Amino acid sequence: MIPAAFDYVRAHSTDEALAALQQHGADARVLAGGQSLVPAMRFRLARPAVLVDINPIRDLDYVQMNGALTIGATTRDMTVERATWIKDAQWSLFHDVSRVVADPVVRQMATVVGSLCHNDPAGDWTTAALAARAEVIVRGAEGERTVPIDEFLVDSFTTAVGDGEMAVAARFPLPGDRSAGSYQKVERKVGDFATAAAAVQITLDANGTIQQAGIALSAAGPCAVRVAEAEALLAGQKPSADAIRAAAEAATRKSEPQGDLRGSVEYKKHLAGVLVARGVRQALARLGVQA
Ligand SMILES: Cc1cc2nc3c(=O)[nH]c(=O)nc-3n(C[C@H](O)[C@H](O)[C@H](O)COP(=O)(O)OP(=O)(O)OC[C@H]3O[C@@H](n4cnc5c(N)ncnc54)[C@H](O)[C@@H]3O)c2cc1C
Repeated sequence: MIPAAFDYVRAHSTDEALAALQQHGADARVLAGGQSLVPAMRFRLARPAVLVDINPIRDLDYVQMNGALTIGATTRDMTVERATWIKDAQWSLFHDVSRVVADPVVRQMATVVGSLCHNDPAGDWTTAALAARAEVIVRGAEGERTVPIDEFLVDSFTTAVGDGEMAVAARFPLPGDRSAGSYQKVERKVGDFATAAAAVQITLDANGTIQQAGIALSAAGPCAVRVAEAEALLAGQKPSADAIRAAAEAATRKSEPQGDLRGSVEYKKHLAGVLVARGVRQALARLGVQA
């Protein structure tokens, strides 16, 4: 199919993009990498009257490590995947995720911020962003606001970005020295969306006790799901098989997937627990701890 007719605005600055978004309100949509929006338009699942293309905005194409990791709205997945810092254990969650989102061809165009804004229930970056406790910077007529990721992800394909607004960046707190993560994804084949996936970020204190845990699931609800119970069960504990088992059971309880061609509800719930356990073990192993 071909998309319904639409007008096209090529924005060369954030101000130009915002002016167009404010002029057209609910009729307008931001075009970032186009890897989700364009297919949706071709199937006429999305019919925006106006596309505001932010790709020419050069100053939103950046990755900054300055008190936090900040990724601009036109930064491609591939830029993050190729970053040198991504090889550090602290950033291992990002390392893992950046290699399993779609396939390399899609990742040449897709943007991290676009993935957060798309908010697919089976998205990978949304799940990692929850575990990493990200924030999204949203700009509109009233200026800029910083939205914690838990509030940003409202429902399937729905975020806190309002009409006339756009997300300009995603910000991730710097993990502590004794932090590592893991992203565990089961997919039917390379490039597929997750049948189930788990994002884990673990920080140990000086005594080797788990100081903070970030645990989130993909394809386990209307959008990425934080498993707060598992986080609380791990925090304050010495790494142990019992603590990991308890966190995995909490993940299985929290998972509310839809049964589909990728797997039954029972299978996906089972996977949620297995993948959280694997993720916690791998994050700990990256810190030199066996549990
Ligand atoms: C073959 C294929 C396989 C894929 N597999 C996976 C996968 O395994 N895992 C996964 O997570 N994703 C997957 N994707 C999705 C891919 O990662 C998307 O590109 C991504 O979800 C959206 O990023 P984008 O930059 O392409 O956004 P676009 O498609 O341009 O936009 C997506 C939505 O977000 C909105 N938006 C984008 N940027 C902004 C902004 N700055 N402010 C406000 N709104 C904005 C758009 O208006 C639109 O509604 C796949 C896509 C394809 C084509």
